[in-house]
Amino acid sequence: MKWRPTRLKISMLSIHSSPIGDLGTRDTGGMSVYVREMAKELGRKGHHIDIFTQHNVGKHDPVIHLNDNVRLVHLSGGTRKNIGKSSFYEVLPQLFNELESFRIKENIAYDIIHSHYWLSGVLGLKLQSSWNAYHLITYHTIGAVKNLSCPTENASELRLTNEKKLAKLCDRIVVPTQQDKEYLIRYYNAPIDKIRIVPCGVNFGLFKPLDKASARRYLAFSKDDGIVLYVGRYAPVKGLDHLFEAFRNLTHLPNVRLVMVGGDGQHSPMLRQLQSKAKALHIENRLMFAGRVDQETLPQYYSAADVLVVPSYYESFGLVALESLACGTPVVTTPVGAMEEIVKEGVTGYVAKDMDPQHYARLIETILIKQQQNGLSPSKIRSSVAEYTWTRSASLLLDAYRSASVHKSENIYKNKEEIHFVK
Ligand code: UDP
Repeated sequence: MKWRPTRLKISMLSIHSSPIGDLGTRDTGGMSVYVREMAKELGRKGHHIDIFTQHNVGKHDPVIHLNDNVRLVHLSGGTRKNIGKSSFYEVLPQLFNELESFRIKENIAYDIIHSHYWLSGVLGLKLQSSWNAYHLITYHTIGAVKNLSCPTENASELRLTNEKKLAKLCDRIVVPTQQDKEYLIRYYNAPIDKIRIVPCGVNFGLFKPLDKASARRYLAFSKDDGIVLYVGRYAPVKGLDHLFEAFRNLTHLPNVRLVMVGGDGQHSPMLRQLQSKAKALHIENRLMFAGRVDQETLPQYYSAADVLVVPSYYESFGLVALESLACGTPVVTTPVGAMEEIVKEGVTGYVAKDMDPQHYARLIETILIKQQQNGLSPSKIRSSVAEYTWTRSASLLLDAYRSASVHKSENIYKNKEEIHFVK
């Protein structure tokens, strides 16, 4: 008989990063948005979701209602401070006990465990071996691909081993693109029929084109400058070194500025590093570090800009590109994540074949010239991505949840030997 309960009880594990954390800072970005938006959509469809996190424990009430059917549950892991990613593995047993106590107190039998990122995945495996629930993993980034694509990333052996194990033991693997599906098969030998592609979405109610001149006035940007915008975390994988080198190749154009949104504040080492790099390249006077910006204000930035740049070495999806397109602003990007699907070559932006700074600069310049001449139509750019709603994403995710039972193999399910926390 096909397993199809109408109202699912879903346990989402987002241990190192909170769906209500400060977006654009070190460990809080696309994954947090994904968890928040998916949970809310599933909640609207009548399912019950508890999201478990350790991030910002002590800053909020232990349990917060995000909507009628969605709760955010803070687990301490034995401390009231955020635990750094590198120390999480040590406290997984405490997190497991706390989560179990919560579940028993609330008297809930979850149907689904959906783990986000490998650290949550390891906790999910332990829960999978204790509960009668299906376990799905979304990696968000794949360690092996990060290491291969970005010279300064160094995903640990522990991470790679566990990511491989998750590919073997989880009931389903949810990825946002065909590219990530291929990577998981190639690097982790993930069984092809376990993998479901569920693209990300965008909140079209929030991310919409605003009047460019008004947005520029609001942000105190000059009305005549060419504005190149970056939005995202300041992490090595984002390719900001290449972006600066590309931008140096644009200094022959008068009044072109690079606005950098995101980062961990004035005193962060990464910001200092970027400031020195900008100085060394003599582009510091054309650069503005705007700091992190709440999503409610981001449409002003996207609408004020002539082009959004995504110079990353690797992305799992790349939400900022979708947000920019939804706001009617073209994108120049490297060939990562969902870019080849969402950017229409020459119409809504360009996907650079590689990260050669001169080539990348030429593509930015082409867009700036187009914007100066007739201007690209924001409404046409927006409608090119109209299908990417979170409602559609959540429906596809629900299909993945419901089909997970197909992969539930008895010997894997109760194989407790493989599923214990190893130091
Ligand atoms: N973001 C934000 N404020 C910032 C920087 C980023 O709200 O200052 C959000 C942005 O809107 C997007 C997310 O953070 O939704 C970044 O997601 P993306 O997939 O582009 O990158 P990731 O963080 O997953 O690497």
